[in-house]
Amino acid sequence: MKKIGLVLVMFLCSFVFIFPGMGHAASNTSIYLDGKALNLPKNGEVQNVNGNVMIPIRVVVEELGFNVNWDKVTRTVTIQQSGTTMKLVVDNKMATVNDNQVKLLVAPILKGDTTLVPLRFISEQVGLTVQWNNETKSAYLITPNSGNENGSGGNDDSNNGSTNPTPPDVNVNLASIGGISFSDNKLMIATDKNVTPNIFKLTGPDRLVVDLPNAKFSDTFSNGQMLDSNMNGYIDVEGYPDVSKIRYSLFSDSPSTIRVVIDLTKSINYTLTNDNDGLIFVDLNSDSSTPSVPGGSGKKLVVIDAGHGGTDPGAISVTKKKEKDFNLAVVLKVEQLLKNEPEIDYVLTRSGDTYPTLQDRVKIANDLNADIFISIHANSGSATASGVETYYTRKESIELANVMHKYLVSSSGLTDRKVRSKSLHVTRETKMPAVLLECGYLSNPKDDAVLYTESFQNSVAAGVVKGIKEYLGVN
Ligand SMILES: [Zn+2]
Repeated sequence: MKKIGLVLVMFLCSFVFIFPGMGHAASNTSIYLDGKALNLPKNGEVQNVNGNVMIPIRVVVEELGFNVNWDKVTRTVTIQQSGTTMKLVVDNKMATVNDNQVKLLVAPILKGDTTLVPLRFISEQVGLTVQWNNETKSAYLITPNSGNENGSGGNDDSNNGSTNPTPPDVNVNLASIGGISFSDNKLMIATDKNVTPNIFKLTGPDRLVVDLPNAKFSDTFSNGQMLDSNMNGYIDVEGYPDVSKIRYSLFSDSPSTIRVVIDLTKSINYTLTNDNDGLIFVDLNSDSSTPSVPGGSGKKLVVIDAGHGGTDPGAISVTKKKEKDFNLAVVLKVEQLLKNEPEIDYVLTRSGDTYPTLQDRVKIANDLNADIFISIHANSGSATASGVETYYTRKESIELANVMHKYLVSSSGLTDRKVRSKSLHVTRETKMPAVLLECGYLSNPKDDAVLYTESFQNSVAAGVVKGIKEYLGVN
């Protein structure tokens, strides 16, 4: 075997020697559309820029069949296909897709009098799946529902093993994704490093795909049972008519890419906000291209934290119910009520059965510069202990604690076990007034019997919102 290998190496060396120009421009790149090879110019116009295949707009028109308009004065390429309109400007990484601003990994370039555009970007925007084989330097474009067995077709969202949509890159310094949540019609992704998301719409069914290149799930994310063994997970979304589910996966490992998919009930517009401050937002609230940052435009911003979640059940009740489920149920009811408060923006640290770490929860509130932080829990102790407590750590939280506790007592109807000071991570490390509400004792049969009822949870949620409004001075 070794001899054969050596002969092969010698053959390849002589091959390169005989054809010295081969290794440079990406003239050896092949592009296949649903299995059929595209006719590419032989003069090396197809380029590989930092691992991104760039193709001349002539190929976009003649081979892909997209509608293309080139404005020489503004150096703008307008590409139309499948109801999607993209505007790309030479040397500019900002593009627009149906009036949404989208950042490109690589800007279009002008080479001689040929304009080159990124193949993967323009293909994915119109719903094609793109796969890259680095050994053969081949890009495979697959039309949805084309029935192409090599392609993932409609299954483009799930992780699909070794055929990766992007050329390999160096997997150093990957960003860790610590949390993915959905609230106030916004997808929020928490990361420890700058990430440039690639976002695009797919149809049949409608969905919005957010790819996070050079990113991995954080260790705590993976430990929190948010992921199955295939590195897939999801969040069930309730109460948002346009969204049915959020799914996420390790989509590719070369480069390591996390894909988050928002399953939609119809095609809607979005605004991507990424200030490289550790939080990425995809806002589905408006058709406007003005980014709606939580807490922007003078609104108050409240971070609501459902304690525990995922692998961490919290306390277990006398009837074997889990605290994490109570906490989330109350928080989701608070969310429904806050939707009706135009002067209050809110972000949930979790909106499903997931486990953001305590550090993640604090980071979300601190990075957002939230006005207040409220964590919802239920307590456990001796069988006779019963009632509600409000905890704070720092002095500046006392007033919030007093207001919230007043409403917690009245809305729960349980014994007043007072406002208490305690060094708890989320109330200590946050930088704004922060409290933790213990809404009853799961170890007490009487408390346990009411805590999981709709009426109790609705009442406590209403009390939480009343407290928030009084403290923030919102009518
Ligand atoms: Zn708890």
